[in-house]
Amino acid sequence: MEQYETIIIGGGASGLIAGISAARHGKNPKNILIIEKNPTLGRKITVTGNGRCNLTNTNITLDKYYGENTKCLNNIFGRFSHKDTVEFFESIGIILKTEDKGRVFPITNQAITVLDLLLEEITHFKINIKTTERVNEIIPTNQTDQIGIPNRPLEADSRVSYQKDWKVITSKDTYRSKYIILTTGGKSYPQLGSSGEGLEFARKLGHRIVEPKPALVPIELSGNWFHKLQGVKSDVELTLTSKNKVIAMEKGELLFTHYGISGPIVMDMSRLITDSLPKPETKVFINFFPDFTVDKLTQFFISRGQAYPQKTFLNSLFGVLPKKLCYVLMRELGVTEDKHIHQLSKKELCAIADRLIHWYIDIKQTRPFAESMVTAGGIAMDEVNSRTMESLKVKGLYFAGEILDIDGVSGGYNLQFAWSTGYIAGLLS
Ligand SMILES: Cc1cc2nc3c(=O)[nH]c(=O)nc-3n(C[C@H](O)[C@H](O)[C@H](O)COP(=O)(O)OP(=O)(O)OC[C@H]3O[C@@H](n4cnc5c(N)ncnc54)[C@H](O)[C@@H]3O)c2cc1C
Repeated sequence: MEQYETIIIGGGASGLIAGISAARHGKNPKNILIIEKNPTLGRKITVTGNGRCNLTNTNITLDKYYGENTKCLNNIFGRFSHKDTVEFFESIGIILKTEDKGRVFPITNQAITVLDLLLEEITHFKINIKTTERVNEIIPTNQTDQIGIPNRPLEADSRVSYQKDWKVITSKDTYRSKYIILTTGGKSYPQLGSSGEGLEFARKLGHRIVEPKPALVPIELSGNWFHKLQGVKSDVELTLTSKNKVIAMEKGELLFTHYGISGPIVMDMSRLITDSLPKPETKVFINFFPDFTVDKLTQFFISRGQAYPQKTFLNSLFGVLPKKLCYVLMRELGVTEDKHIHQLSKKELCAIADRLIHWYIDIKQTRPFAESMVTAGGIAMDEVNSRTMESLKVKGLYFAGEILDIDGVSGGYNLQFAWSTGYIAGLLS
């Protein structure tokens, strides 16, 4: 049976940096093994940032993250910050650039650059890799002596189970190790490997799992009007209210799909929608004219009617909204295609303007994990030491990345969390 000091389960962003960090900080790379079930490492990295890998953000603050306990991020980013991330990637030879909203990318604009140079570093250290090998079980055992690696002194703590050694059973073999770093990701994009097995390993070892839900995900709507808008994009303002109070407001591009809505503003707001979905008091509104008030829009319609009396109302919208959207919205409002502006009273125009500015959408559900960029929920952070990433339940077990109950908005925040926690787990395991 092959024996290692540290086995890293999952060769994604957090697992790869954990391996490099461990090797850089004195662990003998011969004693480190990364096990990945895909045929290649880091598959998800290659699709991040639309293939450009938005690997961090210059403005990492706690309010960009969700989870039951986001205060732990002070310890995590205190130990490995976005500046450390930039330094790390520069140290492996990647030149970075900062774009709008502080988003940091490799200067090549290619996510594969990030993966290639991480893999070069792994190869440079000669860290052991097993791919196309799925971990099926991790079992705490008590046979450390056979590994020949000295035990760390264990502090007396009755809450902790004092296992001293691990048996890792994969689809091909069984391995032993002293430490485990579990970096199997959440449940998002299972087609790229992260299908939630790691959460089950943690649950079996006594960890509390905050229910995983899709986040940064498109939204399905009820009704049948949006189907006709598939592919249409429009600059709007999206507002989320609960009990008539605004809880989020985002301006930006909205993309209609056959099932509902997508696009960056929807993805970011989806996290709050995921949280509040069973509550009927949560409502979402689209403002199709974010730079207008109801009065200003009404006046605009009136002046269009005066300037072009021969034009229909529908026609007068063509210059300000995508054409397909004009047809669908007017049909929903009951304004027929032949209606002229002068045939509508000021009160009716005002009511139309009001609807276009406060367009209520009936949310059905979020799209499934297969379409969600990250997973909300995961291993509860109150059972993880956020200074070391070690389990507070089982000694010798470390966690990093999306498997944990922390998720961020879009903009490089999720990868930053994966880099920080992976680096710390590698350093301190
Ligand atoms: C389309 C898309 C775009 C994104 N873009 C960005 C972006 O631009 N910026 C950003 O910050 N974040 C982005 N994210 C989120 C970010 O990619 C993830 O948060 C991050 O990659 C999580 O890293 P991880 O190492 O924790 O998990 P993962 O990258 O999911 O890696 C987990 C690995 O574990 C392996 N594994 C799982 N179970 C087992 C098992 N039983 N045995 C062996 N191996 C196993 C998986 O195959 C996988 O390779 C994006 C996500 C998606 C899906």
